[in-house]
Amino acid sequence: MKDQIVITNIQRFSLHDGPGIRTTVFCKGCSLRCPWCANPENLEAQPEKYVKDGKPGVYGRYLSCDELYGEIMKDEIFYRQQGKGAGLESLPGGVTWSGGEALLQADRLEPLFRRLKEAGVHQCVETCLFVPADRLALAMEYIDLFYVDVKILDRQRCGDILHGNLDRYLANVQTLFEEGKSVVFRVPVIGGYTDDDENIGRIIELIRQYPPLKVELIKEHNLGQSKYISLGKTPPDLHTVTDAFMDCMKNEVEMDTGTAAEVCRV
Ligand code: SF4
Repeated sequence: MKDQIVITNIQRFSLHDGPGIRTTVFCKGCSLRCPWCANPENLEAQPEKYVKDGKPGVYGRYLSCDELYGEIMKDEIFYRQQGKGAGLESLPGGVTWSGGEALLQADRLEPLFRRLKEAGVHQCVETCLFVPADRLALAMEYIDLFYVDVKILDRQRCGDILHGNLDRYLANVQTLFEEGKSVVFRVPVIGGYTDDDENIGRIIELIRQYPPLKVELIKEHNLGQSKYISLGKTPPDLHTVTDAFMDCMKNEVEMDTGTAAEVCRV
C-alpha cells in the first residue's frame, strides 16, 4: 500500500470546485481538526469502518496512480472545454484535489500530478496549507491554481481549536506568493470561531500582504451530520452567521483590500 493513494470519493461534473466542469478527488487524511468540518470521513489517513442506517461500510479505498489516472481521464472531454468568461472564468475545467488534505499525500500523488500536467489537464488543489514545506514544493511544480483556506489567524487559538501550527501555514502562504502561484483565498465564516472582529482584522491584513486573485467567503451550515453519526461521533452544533453579516464582511474585505470578494453559500 506504500505507493497507493487513499481516497474516499471521486465527484464528477463538479461546478463549485474551481473553473469549468471539474472532477474532484477527495483524498483521505488531514492534520487539522476544524470543529465545523463537513467531511469527518476524510480526517483519518486510513480507511475506516462506519455504520449507516444499520448497514456497515468503509470510508476510503486505496488506488494506484494508474488506476486513479484512468478514473480521472474518463472525464477528459470536459477538460478540453475552455471557459467563456473573463479571469478565472476563462480557464478550462480539470481536476481538483480536495479532501481532507490532499497535499499530505503529495509524495504519492507526484507521479500523477506530473502525468496530468503532461496531458495538459488543469489542476487545482483545495488546501488548508498546514502541510510540510517539502510536500507543498512537490505540488507547486504541477498545480495551476491553489484554493487556500484562511481560518483562525491567532497563533494560540489556531493551535488550541484547529490543532494547527500557524507559523507553518504562514510560511507556506509566503512561499506560494514568492513563487508567483495563482491563489484564491477561501474563508469559512463560522460563528464563534472565525467571525470575531479581531480575526477578521487579521484576515484583512493577510489579504493586503498577499493579494489573491479573489476571496471567497464561505457561509457554512451544519453539513456532514449523517457522516458524523455513521462514525459514532457527535455532529457539530454550529452557530450560522446571517446573510447580512456575510454581505457586510464582503464589503469590508473589498473596501479595505481592493480585492474582489464573493459570498458562497454551501
Ligand atoms: S482542513 Fe478541511 S478537512 Fe481538515 S479538518 Fe478542517 S475542514 Fe476538515
